[in-house]
Amino acid sequence: AKEKGKNSLCFYTSDINDRLQHYQNISAILYDALAADGLFLHFQPQIDLQDHHILSCEALLRCQDRNGEPLSPDVLIPIAEKSGLINRIGDWIIEAACQQLVNWQGTALEKVRIDINLSGKQLTNPNLAKQILNCLSTYGLKTSQLGVELTENEVIGSDELQIDQLKQLKNAGVHISIDDFGTGYSSLVYLSKLPVCSLKIDRSFLVHAMENESDMAIMKAIITVGHSLGLSVVVEGVETTEQDRLVKSLGCDLAQGYLYARPMPAGDMLKYLTSN
Ligand code: C2E
Ligand code: CA
Ligand code: CA
Ligand code: CA
Repeated sequence: AKEKGKNSLCFYTSDINDRLQHYQNISAILYDALAADGLFLHFQPQIDLQDHHILSCEALLRCQDRNGEPLSPDVLIPIAEKSGLINRIGDWIIEAACQQLVNWQGTALEKVRIDINLSGKQLTNPNLAKQILNCLSTYGLKTSQLGVELTENEVIGSDELQIDQLKQLKNAGVHISIDDFGTGYSSLVYLSKLPVCSLKIDRSFLVHAMENESDMAIMKAIITVGHSLGLSVVVEGVETTEQDRLVKSLGCDLAQGYLYARPMPAGDMLKYLTSN
């Protein structure tokens, strides 16, 4: 649009209007969803590559637009963060995960941990750790039944007080994972000081590892570093049997991806467990 000179202003203005409209639409949908049970969690198993049992599952946010079409959390979450709704949505996710863990008690899924995604914004709440631990105890759950995932960049931008929230959680027994690992800028020294239990290698490395030597080298390096720091290494986005073979041969501990299961409603998890 730049070469169009004077007209370009119109392009930019309508573009801004569109984006504002989009932002307002999504905010309104999220606001309504919070008020009217319109938010859901889907669950995706994380498979132990040694014995293929389901160690944990990741909780992923789901919400529909006014026509019943699914809205991607990649769209929802950034808008929730900008509008400030993320704190209320985050609270809902914590509670919904605990509720689900309670529902699984006494079933074959009772030993499966649920890992929720935390937004960096939630970490700025100085009561977050207390709130999560309170929720677990209110529902009569063990702290080891819950895990939290934070991306590398969300943790890097954090100050002492925010890292302290993670320390409180980890000391209490909540599992902490660094998500999308390898895409951010954390140094190894920094990583070794963080209260962390697992690294999740970003899907993008696996996608290219087969053809691209440097992506393969990065994957190997992450696994080596993770293990030498005593962390378990999870690989996400396993879609093919070739990738499954590769991640096993590289020594990854856990894997998640469409090859094993897509994210699914809680009710389908039992069926999945008994059919595998
Ligand atoms: P993420 O945390 O990296 O989650 C993994 C994403 O990869 C999920 O997308 C999942 O459905 C998808 N995925 C899993 N296996 C495969 C595979 O084999 N192939 C491919 N191509 N994709 C796979 P989803 O559910 O659309 O979520 C996207 C992102 O939105 C998440 O990325 C996370 O950053 C964010 N998100 C989702 N739920 C929540 C939530 O409850 N809270 C927060 N703060 N963020 C969330
Ligand atoms: Ca995640
Ligand atoms: Ca991820
Ligand atoms: Ca991601």
